[in-house]
Amino acid sequence: MNTILRKQFLAHVGQTSPSPMLVEVARAEGSFFYTPDGKRYYDLVAGVSVSNVGHCNPDVVRAVQEQAARYMHVMVYGEMVESPQVTYAARIAAALPAPLDSVYFVNSGAEAVEGALKLAKRVTGRTELVSMRRAYHGSTHGAMSMMGTPEGEEWKAAFRPLLPDVRAIEFNDFEALDRITRRTAAVLVEPVQGEAGVRLPAAGWLEALRERCDRTGALLVFDEIQTGLGRTGALFAMQRYGVTPDIVCLAKAFGGGMPLGAFVAAKRTMDALQTDPALGHITTFGGHPVCCAAGLAAFDYLTRNRVVEQVEAKGALYEELLAGHPQVREIRRSGLLLAVELGDAAKLYRMMELFKEAGILSDWFLYCDTAFRISPPLTISEEEVRDSARIVAECLDKL
Ligand code: PLP
Repeated sequence: MNTILRKQFLAHVGQTSPSPMLVEVARAEGSFFYTPDGKRYYDLVAGVSVSNVGHCNPDVVRAVQEQAARYMHVMVYGEMVESPQVTYAARIAAALPAPLDSVYFVNSGAEAVEGALKLAKRVTGRTELVSMRRAYHGSTHGAMSMMGTPEGEEWKAAFRPLLPDVRAIEFNDFEALDRITRRTAAVLVEPVQGEAGVRLPAAGWLEALRERCDRTGALLVFDEIQTGLGRTGALFAMQRYGVTPDIVCLAKAFGGGMPLGAFVAAKRTMDALQTDPALGHITTFGGHPVCCAAGLAAFDYLTRNRVVEQVEAKGALYEELLAGHPQVREIRRSGLLLAVELGDAAKLYRMMELFKEAGILSDWFLYCDTAFRISPPLTISEEEVRDSARIVAECLDKL
């Protein structure tokens, strides 16, 4: 790697941990990215479920170039009529189950969560927020407040005080649903918990959660920031699991590789943000026209090429190719979101070194450092699934 660049990266780019990966990216295409010396990596993270249509998807690149040449930022969000924004909002409204038809654009996942929580408080007039243990919703104060305990505690402790009136319940615990009451403004849940290490909802639990929210008047908010746009084998996980929330948060793949997020609700719900106070939730860049053009191109690519329909088979193939390996304890999977459980953190760290040598980009999960992630671009070919699984198995052989 260019040593000056490396030094400047460490000196001048704000760091998130003492041990960054330090792999320089020269270019990326499809399921791969390349270093300046030409080393190829299978991208089995996809920017944490961002690059669903593959790196440098030509449709997305073209849309970005064309929109950038037409106009970029003009005026703060919500004032002007910008066709990439309007067309994308209409497309998302048509794809989501009723009554989710009003899209409030923001810039990131955490911001989508912030907006959804504020909307729920505004609509219900209540203050209590319920989250799930081992949930991850972003790193801003509000989103971090919803991280759930006890695992989230390690992250939260240094940043208190956070939001008051937040309580965490156990994901998949039917009895804990009684803790949702008429004081609860919103219940925030990932339909498949990502950073917990891919935890799937138990049969009937999301339905029971929906019922409890209906009975108490609490708004049900799905965080589909990681699961949305095809990752679980349906366009949205809510369709796969058959439960419609009152608000859904989107980001990551939603921008087709550009920074874009949204919270989506029924228009009659969303309209609450217009008044009392007006301008109570605003953003400068939310729904940036270039990001919306990219997201729209990616969305159209997914649907036109029937990419989502092939996700389940590709995920099942990874599972079939790796589940029998003696080092693999368990594979937890929803579509092309896989956690390969080794049951041992030291082995996992060793796997990361082996992966780096072998040209595989994987990662562990925020709350689970004994499993590695397989969440490639959804456009990965069957041949690439087989080839990357072979390399992963060779790394497992070396443990
Ligand atoms: N929600 C979930 C489920 C996530 O996985 C993430 C990011 O990993 C977020 C929210 C936060 O998104 P962002 O990093 O865009 O703020």
